[in-house]
Amino acid sequence: MPASSEFQGGGLLNISMKYRKIRGCEDILPPDVEAWQELETKAVEVLTQFGYCQIRTPILEPLELFQRSIGESTDIVEKEIFSFKDKKGRNICLRPEATASIARAYVENNLYQLPGIKKFYYFGPMFRAERPQKGRKRQFHQIGVEAIGSYSPVIDAEIIYLCQRLIQILGISKFRLEINSLGCAKDKKRISNYIRTKIKNNLNKFCPQCQRRFSRNVLRILDCKNLQCITAIRDLKIDIGSQICQDCHQHYLEVKGYLKALGVNFIENNYLVRGLDYYTRTVFEIVSDKLGAQNAIGAGGRYDDLIQEIGGPPQGAVGFALGMERILILRNKLSQIKYQPTVFVAVQDNTLLKAAVVEVMNLRENGISAEMDYQQRSLKSQMRLANEKGVKYVLILGTEEIQKGQYSLKQMDTGIQRRIKREDLIKVLKEEE
Ligand SMILES: [Zn+2]
Ligand SMILES: [Zn+2]
Repeated sequence: MPASSEFQGGGLLNISMKYRKIRGCEDILPPDVEAWQELETKAVEVLTQFGYCQIRTPILEPLELFQRSIGESTDIVEKEIFSFKDKKGRNICLRPEATASIARAYVENNLYQLPGIKKFYYFGPMFRAERPQKGRKRQFHQIGVEAIGSYSPVIDAEIIYLCQRLIQILGISKFRLEINSLGCAKDKKRISNYIRTKIKNNLNKFCPQCQRRFSRNVLRILDCKNLQCITAIRDLKIDIGSQICQDCHQHYLEVKGYLKALGVNFIENNYLVRGLDYYTRTVFEIVSDKLGAQNAIGAGGRYDDLIQEIGGPPQGAVGFALGMERILILRNKLSQIKYQPTVFVAVQDNTLLKAAVVEVMNLRENGISAEMDYQQRSLKSQMRLANEKGVKYVLILGTEEIQKGQYSLKQMDTGIQRRIKREDLIKVLKEEE
């Protein structure tokens, strides 16, 4: 695989491009892709240890699925979903998140009939028409999990623990975990009324966006990032914990108890609400101060009514998603991993190319990464290319050697060159690895 410079910057020719990528959608090029693959591999290891199985759902979903689950009056549904009508006039969209899709798949495939708790994880692109900025793309990627089939506070704690563990395993050590409880659906209604009552005579102290939220999505006022709104909320001494029923209060206490037992450090943030309607009871966010305005690395919570809302039986559920782009920004390790083939197969003259191709494939099939020159250049040029690629060995094929069933193997760091029998090649290379 060539170095990234061959992919980036448009090359030497100044070609005037006719087509450009869609705003907010990124090409992920080699070698950056390797950082993504590394994240995925590490994540799968941890997720498997915790008993989660991968699920893959379509990128296209019916728009109504998200209108019903995330909520009609949320920012996501009102402004950010990419949707269109198909040829039969049905409303289709690109999924803005995966929880509703997985809940749909869970109900549609009768997975609720399986006993016990069902644990899923997913990777994939999500789509939201937001203004692109650092850590916020229109096509962005998430790793997420959903645990469906339990109301137990143990699973809330496990999910939060797992979220934190994944972030650590993926190479981030500095972050802050914030948690809150929104109570059950009844509590959420009570909380909304409570907030309206508290602020209706002080609406002028809030930003224009919050004034609009007052009638449509009053909960969101609590996590407005606008300083005047933050101050106004503090001044009004809004405490949503006071509006939560005894059962939900007890559930939250137990979640916190399990988190403490697991040694998880958390901060209670009474104003943490998350922007999606389906959340009930526990919500949480893992944030980093290094990300700027888009400071959440991961977030999630419980959604006890969603499975029933979609048409399944009542089943408790909890999950989270991590933003892969944001993890990669924080790791700051992009482009550091480089593909280095072990062997470069060079030929003394171009009549031997066929033998070289056969040998390259032979090495690869035996688990040894191998490269060659595809442009039929001189041996000197091939050696230069091998050097650029940083290979450990160059295998030199000459007419005479091939007739004798022998090759020259040059070790690049020492410069030592030796003769080696063709049938011994794989064995020797594997032994030295
Ligand atoms: Zn409740
Ligand atoms: Zn505001």
